[in-house]
Amino acid sequence: MEKIETCEICGNNNFSVYMESFDYFLSKEKFTIVRCEKCGFLFVNPRPDIIEISRYYKSKEYISHSNSKKGLINKIYHIVRRRNHKNKYKIVQKYKNNGSILDIGCATGEFLNFFKNCGWNVMGVEPDTDAQNLARTQYSLNVLSESVLNERPKEKFDVITMWHVLEHVHQLSIKIEQIKNYLVDDGIVIIAVPNAASKDADIYRNFWAGYDLPRHLYHFTQKSIHDLFEKNDFVIIETIPMKFDSFYVSVLSEKYKTGNKNIIKAFLNGLKSNKWGTKNNNNFSSLIFVLKKINKK
Ligand SMILES: [Zn+2]
Repeated sequence: MEKIETCEICGNNNFSVYMESFDYFLSKEKFTIVRCEKCGFLFVNPRPDIIEISRYYKSKEYISHSNSKKGLINKIYHIVRRRNHKNKYKIVQKYKNNGSILDIGCATGEFLNFFKNCGWNVMGVEPDTDAQNLARTQYSLNVLSESVLNERPKEKFDVITMWHVLEHVHQLSIKIEQIKNYLVDDGIVIIAVPNAASKDADIYRNFWAGYDLPRHLYHFTQKSIHDLFEKNDFVIIETIPMKFDSFYVSVLSEKYKTGNKNIIKAFLNGLKSNKWGTKNNNNFSSLIFVLKKINKK
């Protein structure tokens, strides 16, 4: 386990305990989320280091790397995923009609394949070698291991995406530096993360599936994303809700809390969360942030 001594956003070293909870998904181990007293950033502390964390992903059920269509949750997930690709494509189209896209944490490559079929030049990076291989064999995609981002880019990209990936990254500032290096000057970055300030986080508290301890190392809010990226010379140009996530996260949270999926109750809480998000500064279950580099001239 590694102990974080300074806040990765503001450099302060004064934290309070925000919550204690468990890895409900896999290890059942207990973890602590702390809150930076200065900027409010929430993160797991202490946390498994970059070597130790791998054993918390050792599950065939870990859905982002799974193509299983068994079970109701997985079925819904797959249907929604297809529709999601179209929605994500529409978001990108608002800013770039065509060009090149780098997806960091591309898993088995479905999202990139969608873009490839629309005529984009695509590249992915993915830490999981099984997922990498699937992306290559299923869709003939150019998918490399994450270490390539440490190298000087051979090409830069118009769009860089991280779909529910940033909360898993051990060295935030290094990752953002890599993004900067690989992005053309007028390019856009799209980042989706769970929102710890959502109503479903409030309803389920310690059982909220968006915490996904310890795989989610950080529990972002609109403020922390703003602070983190402003510090790294990016500005948020659009914030978009992911309205399906409230339902999906509520089903998982019900399961963690009660042992049952309680589909109807979860559905009602999902609705409640979306309604609340509409009225409360866009604080939906998960958010997509569109960012660009600040032009420093
Ligand atoms: Zn801080």
